[in-house]
Amino acid sequence: MIKVNPDIEFKKQLKDISKSSLNECMQCGTCSVVCSLAPEERPFPRKEMIWAGWGMKDKLIGNTDIWLCHQCGDCSTYCPRGVKPADVFSAIREISYQHYAKPKFLGKILNNPKWLPIAILIPVVIISAILFMAGTLQIPEGPVNYSKFFPHAWLNSSFTFLWFLTIGLGIVGLRNFWNDLKLQNPDSTSTGNFIKNLLSVRKEIILHSNFSKCSAQKTRKFAHLLVFYGFILLLFVTAFAIYAAVVHKYPLGLMHPFKVLGNIAAVMLFVGLGIMIANRLFNKKDFGNSTYTDWLFLISMFFLTTSGVVIEAARFLNWSFAYHLYFFHLICVWFIIIYIPYTKFGHILFRIVAMVYAASINRKLK
Ligand code: SF4
Ligand code: SF4
Repeated sequence: MIKVNPDIEFKKQLKDISKSSLNECMQCGTCSVVCSLAPEERPFPRKEMIWAGWGMKDKLIGNTDIWLCHQCGDCSTYCPRGVKPADVFSAIREISYQHYAKPKFLGKILNNPKWLPIAILIPVVIISAILFMAGTLQIPEGPVNYSKFFPHAWLNSSFTFLWFLTIGLGIVGLRNFWNDLKLQNPDSTSTGNFIKNLLSVRKEIILHSNFSKCSAQKTRKFAHLLVFYGFILLLFVTAFAIYAAVVHKYPLGLMHPFKVLGNIAAVMLFVGLGIMIANRLFNKKDFGNSTYTDWLFLISMFFLTTSGVVIEAARFLNWSFAYHLYFFHLICVWFIIIYIPYTKFGHILFRIVAMVYAASINRKLK
């Protein structure tokens, strides 16, 4: 027997974000028939749709299946009542970023457009304070050299510290998420350890194989793989740049292999993000409702990539406003790297944790 414990505020938030007419769901089960994730004994996503209609936040936050959903949109395409289950699950994931955020206020300001100025102001103030402490809070004279503006030792140590801090806070949130996954599955026993189960889902992570099952959104897998591997390549190049700075071999020449790799990563990101943005703008029927969180992530990543290319050109061409662009680039880096547990980009972490948990309880796909 299920005890119904409706959360009216949660249901209102769900409707506001998803723009779904939740109460129209007639429990026909078409979504469960078309969803490639639905196991025979658990009618996903039909049962989640009735829980959403009843405002059962406790059944939907920390729900493994909601995070296994790869937003293919097939359920929304075939739903005879236009209830858009895919958008409802996307909204539940968006609410989860706030629910598991540590500290809570960061989850709030990064998921509500009215707090965007504060979200921007935080890195502006902190980066300015670091530059002030480094004694370089001014535009340097002479040829463009970013290390004269933000000395490498200060840049690498401060951003590394902040990144470890955010990952630590993110792990606390993910730990709570993991505990909720276990609470939602009281009859399942976890087997194996985290690493073993992580290895068992490596193929899905590396190849995004489930994305191939999307019949409504054919280009989605290609775009995701480009952004996923473009970003990993960018991280690899950045790690090398930090090493080069430590051994005083920075800046790198235009034809340096790592510069070339960085530019390849930028092209991959541009193409992947371009497809994602175009799909959201021009193919709303198949790609569903796009929320503030979707756009914040896509635009931040697009600005990060564009500003990375532009500051490279600004250095070689000695542009007078190169340092202003560099400062803007650092704000974009902050939005992607430091804010990761609180934004849509955090879905990578939540999804991997849910996949590992699913593997640990032997959650079978159809
Ligand atoms: S297909 Fe639509 S109406 Fe039918 S159960 Fe799913 S959400 Fe409800
Ligand atoms: S969006 Fe795709 S994976 Fe997610 S519930 Fe709907 S059909 Fe299943």
